[in-house]
Amino acid sequence: MSLPPRMRAVVFERIGSFTVTDIPTPRPARGEALIRVRASMVCATDQKILAGKFPATRFPHVPGHEFSGEVVASGDGVTVAPGTRVGVEVHVGCGTCDRCREGMYTLCRNYGKRETGHAHIGFTVAGGLADYVSVPAAALHALPASVSLDDGAWTDNLGVALWALERGRLAPGDRVVVFGPGAIGLCAAQLARALGAGSVTLVGRGERSKRVRDLADEVVDAAEVDALRGTADLVVEFAGTSDAARAAILSARRGGRVVLGGSTGVGTELTGLDLSTIVRGNLDVLGSLANPKGVSGRALALLAGKKVDVKRLVTHHYPLERFADAWQTFTERRDGAIRVMLHPAAG
Ligand SMILES: [Zn+2]
Ligand SMILES: [Zn+2]
Repeated sequence: MSLPPRMRAVVFERIGSFTVTDIPTPRPARGEALIRVRASMVCATDQKILAGKFPATRFPHVPGHEFSGEVVASGDGVTVAPGTRVGVEVHVGCGTCDRCREGMYTLCRNYGKRETGHAHIGFTVAGGLADYVSVPAAALHALPASVSLDDGAWTDNLGVALWALERGRLAPGDRVVVFGPGAIGLCAAQLARALGAGSVTLVGRGERSKRVRDLADEVVDAAEVDALRGTADLVVEFAGTSDAARAAILSARRGGRVVLGGSTGVGTELTGLDLSTIVRGNLDVLGSLANPKGVSGRALALLAGKKVDVKRLVTHHYPLERFADAWQTFTERRDGAIRVMLHPAAG
């Protein structure tokens, strides 16, 4: 097919400044596939990128790391057929360092070094808030037939949520507490149920918690969290604050497991916790970063099996052209916004 020479894209021009503009349509390099983007979301991490908190991101930058689309062209060495509907996971490792060889390409020792094959899509290389994006084929997951392109945009997020539960060794019947009623926390709550949790309690505050009341057995306001102290077999935290991390650790029963997944940026300190809670409690307190080992592919299988409903977590849809409105809706949490989804023009 013939590709237009130029395309529309969201561009983070410099710290604190963005625009929607025309830029050259990328061409797939060796090992890459060109994706016609169909659905693309923004998250709090994009706010951090725009604020300049990811040193590896160079401005001007095309963001977008939660997206799906169709393959329209591919570079040498790529066999995926044109027309294939795909979701994208955003960490692509160099493939040869010690961590990559363990499947932990999320911890690649060559982070940010494009010449080694490493790419963090939407972070160190251009992302999917554009009509087209060229990405390494290793980032692609073919979407199951029953998964829509809109739902497929959750490929990365669902993997992040599932990885946290696997880190925490979720067992059937477990009493699970999830901190953070944002998109990833709500995926984790649903997946915990799907994987056999005995009960799921969601901790959060505000409009968003009410909207998703039925996705958990119980919703507890963050102000009332003391009531959960020492009760949970498994606690999963996707709130990203020191208060939430401390409360998460205090909510575990003795011998329980705590997975902290919210604070992926630097600069948040854990304060005000008696160490004996962890030591004498014999707790497993684990960090969980992103979605290694192809976990997003398994998450898509659960999505295909209707074990998790992501459609209802998309509270707003916009054409790509209206990115400024979408951004404001998301960053100000208007109307209980959970995720806003952008759609490049059809064609
Ligand atoms: Zn994100
Ligand atoms: Zn590596």
